[in-house]
Amino acid sequence: MFLEAKKSNIQQIYFSEIANSGVSLYIKREDQLHPFISGNKYRKLKYNLIEASKQQQKTLLTFGGAFSNHITAAAAAGFQFGFKTIGIIRGDELANDLEKVLQQNPTLKFASEHNMQFHFVSRSAYREKTSEVFIANLKQQFGDFYLVPEGGTNTFAVKGCEEILNDEDIIYNVICSSVGTGGTISGIINSTKKHQKTIGFPALKGDFLKHEIKKYVLTDKNWSLNTDYHFGGYAKVSEDLIHFINKFKSETGIPLDPVYTGKLLFGIVDLIKNDYFDAGTNILAIHTGGLQGIEGMNVYLKNKNLAEIV
Ligand SMILES: *Cc1c(COP(=O)(O)O)cnc(C)c1O
Repeated sequence: MFLEAKKSNIQQIYFSEIANSGVSLYIKREDQLHPFISGNKYRKLKYNLIEASKQQQKTLLTFGGAFSNHITAAAAAGFQFGFKTIGIIRGDELANDLEKVLQQNPTLKFASEHNMQFHFVSRSAYREKTSEVFIANLKQQFGDFYLVPEGGTNTFAVKGCEEILNDEDIIYNVICSSVGTGGTISGIINSTKKHQKTIGFPALKGDFLKHEIKKYVLTDKNWSLNTDYHFGGYAKVSEDLIHFINKFKSETGIPLDPVYTGKLLFGIVDLIKNDYFDAGTNILAIHTGGLQGIEGMNVYLKNKNLAEIV
């Protein structure tokens, strides 16, 4: 009915920095699942859309930052499947000159063109977004809605992410994925087999993630987080990271986003170079998408006179 079950393609990676390492690296191209409902957001929205329709809700309300992949995906999903969408966006200063913001922000421009209605809130109000009072106020203002949490993570999202891996993927021993709120990696962990280990690479700082993930995952699974590759925090980048993303694309043809998958692949390649994995290991990295974020990041890099993502 909504986002149908799909298998994405897997590509073996030939990259000069890890040639002759004895380790094989593959990428699962979840970024190619849908042109606008990208990567893990496709998986995370699927059962939420089904639930919203079961509850006979006509409006989806959700939350995000001004460059959020989730906001784009939620707007596109609502547009495609006939839900009205409301985006609660962090940053009340954005409301002052929306015309100008839309010119410079491809994420919000896309969401607006797909009929998402914005409600901009201050950073302090945004932090209250899970409180009952805040949500009751939103219901008063906008009427009834189906609430999709920030980043889309809840038990329905985790269920959708359990469909990322399938039976053909048992040939890989190590599964690697980027981590934001932890929903995606939870689904991946739940669908791994006994001989497989999952490693999550958080794209932001903070010790809360392990606790979040434990809420969703089965207890008999083998997983860990590697917190060495957040590059200073959420959406923070360095010249090294941008250089890596460009080099990776020129050699493999695979584009990476600067917020999540660029950091993931940088981390995996760095670990392989440092002999972290045994020879013969077959690593499957999940490309969770997020490529819409490149354009917005390039506006920022250009303003700072830094090299852009090509
Ligand atoms: C949202 C997002 C993530 C993080 O997913 P979580 O389920 O929040 O951990 C990872 N990669 C990309 C490309 C994303 O857009």
